[in-house]
Amino acid sequence: MTTQQKIQSLREELHQHNYNYYVLDKPTISDYEFDIKLRELQELEDKNPEFYDPNSPTQRVGGEVTKKFETATHKNRMYSLDNSYSKEDLLDWEKRIQKMLGTEDIEYSCELKYDGASINLTFENGQLVKAVTRGDGFQGDDVTANIRTIKSIPLVSNGDFVSDFEIRGEIILPLDGFNKMNEERIVNGEEPYRNPRNTASGSLKLQDSAEVAKRPLDCLLYHLVSDSRKYKTHTESLENARKSGFKVPDNLKTCKTLEEVFEFLEYWDHHRHSLPYETDGVVVKVNNLQQQEELGYTAKAPRWAIAYKFKAEQVSTVLHEITYQVGRTGAITPVANLEPVQLAGTIVKRASLHNADQIEKLDIRINDTVFVEKGGEIIPKIIGVDFTKRPADSRPTQYATHCPECHTELVRKEGDAKHYCPNEFGCAPQITGRIQHYISRKAMDIEGLGGETVDLLRKEGLIENYADLYDLKVEQIIPLERMAEKSAQNIIEGIEKSKEVPFEKVLFALGIRFVGETVAKKLAKHFKSMDNLMNASFEELIAVDEIGDRIAQSIINFSNDLENIQLINRLKSYGVQLEISAEEQANQSETLAGKVFVVSGVFHQMNRNELKKAIEDNGGKVSSSISKKTSFIVAGDNMGPSKLTKAQDLGIEIISEQDFINMIN
Ligand code: AMP
Ligand code: ZN
Repeated sequence: MTTQQKIQSLREELHQHNYNYYVLDKPTISDYEFDIKLRELQELEDKNPEFYDPNSPTQRVGGEVTKKFETATHKNRMYSLDNSYSKEDLLDWEKRIQKMLGTEDIEYSCELKYDGASINLTFENGQLVKAVTRGDGFQGDDVTANIRTIKSIPLVSNGDFVSDFEIRGEIILPLDGFNKMNEERIVNGEEPYRNPRNTASGSLKLQDSAEVAKRPLDCLLYHLVSDSRKYKTHTESLENARKSGFKVPDNLKTCKTLEEVFEFLEYWDHHRHSLPYETDGVVVKVNNLQQQEELGYTAKAPRWAIAYKFKAEQVSTVLHEITYQVGRTGAITPVANLEPVQLAGTIVKRASLHNADQIEKLDIRINDTVFVEKGGEIIPKIIGVDFTKRPADSRPTQYATHCPECHTELVRKEGDAKHYCPNEFGCAPQITGRIQHYISRKAMDIEGLGGETVDLLRKEGLIENYADLYDLKVEQIIPLERMAEKSAQNIIEGIEKSKEVPFEKVLFALGIRFVGETVAKKLAKHFKSMDNLMNASFEELIAVDEIGDRIAQSIINFSNDLENIQLINRLKSYGVQLEISAEEQANQSETLAGKVFVVSGVFHQMNRNELKKAIEDNGGKVSSSISKKTSFIVAGDNMGPSKLTKAQDLGIEIISEQDFINMIN
């Protein structure tokens, strides 16, 4: 045997033992024997560095230190899930998808919803090449070095599986391991971790992968993304993933009817506490992959899946004080400061009170005993008062009248649930908040510049608004606390690079109230430049599809403000993109105005998303279901048979990809 063959064979053997131990939970050799073999491999690799392999079992111990995690764009967006809380919700969902698919013949797959941090693993030629966190769904952090240390993740997939794929799963900390970690911390006099989920996601961001290797993390897989059409159903794809080395829990179940789904829900609602890990619900998915593709996605979540949340846990505790937070738009959020209490695995000290109406409606008062519930959100909420425990001297809550930060009198416009601090340009959290929003990932995505640095820069009087960023000099940044020359350089470069960010993102970055990402896109496309937008009348604004009174008025207010006009002029002078680029303009037309398209099947010249973008760029609308309003169906290969029948019934014209391309050229 050559050295290379010896190394190869040891690697395969050790991979197999890892799998036996961490996935199957059935080791066939002792830990001692394993260590001997691992050491043998390590020595061979040390002597023959030309055979280095990042996926070798020796790499599991970690050692690579990452100072800053690289941002990586997801090839396929990682969506969130819609939630449901009752059988009725699920019945409604079933009705909706039956209607869209035009059939009642739908099989479901049920899985537990594992409570951890989602991860996307990319494999090429069966080798793990990349692991990225969900992030905002479009891009996340590259945490590959840390992920390699998780023993239940195969670094090389085996068997007769697809060779290039992405697989998604949840990084979790099983309860046993979590409790052991905490026991150790307590012995060392350290504060115990609050809950397994946050500890799992925090572990992925540790800089030293050797530290990650020490944590008993696990990875449960739930979704295969692949271009190969090898498998017909979701469960089939997962079962094959399991065969090729991935840890796919075996409590997954296929159900022919919703009745069977309900049984699954009830069973796990009662038995979930006996699981070795935490779960907060069940994910129900349409099992047939062709049907999944036909159903597609909303802006936020797949239509073919829904999460069912188990009833939230509730506790009661005493409300000590109500404080007020000021957001970047000046919106005031009342916060309940509570007697700390244990709830669903975490210690809760604060809860959101939403707004003045909510406080009045529930009649929440200081020193009341209140019921606190933890739903899906990170921040728990108060859902009621235990009136039997109300102190005799209790008095109704007087809502704040002045801003806690700048003491300006608060205003509340008709129809608004929230109070606002109107001191837009003089109220510290608003000023900082706007700049932080401006630089955030979905906005200008200025690398190297974080929220804390913005705070520092502001405290030093170096910036007052987002336009000031463009006047910053390296020499001004270096003297700041904990700032090295290199990082100062990075900040300046990041700011410089933001001048290339396209107009629609700039518009979102400006932080105009009610102008979120989607609205910004619409406005950019319609008005094409900031000048046009700022000169638009109320009527012109509301004439735009999906722009209502509230958004229109907010844009008018923004555009009439002298400070804003100056800011925009300054941004323009620095070269920030305040109109859509010539290239984008060239790709846009109104050729398809008023036309509604449904896209179905597999395409060759463009992918589905490019096709949809082309429709929208040319003024058309994309809809996911066929109705009388549909103008055309763009059909690729394997168009869903139910869609075909429906289209024919309604007499809607079916066109090919090529027909469509001819149409826009
Ligand atoms: P949410 O974060 O509430 O939008 O729910 C979506 C997340 O649920 C996904 O990003 C996954 O990380 C997580 N999840 C946990 N278990 C599953 C599962 N069995 N199937 C799909 N997603 C799951
Ligand atoms: Zn204020």
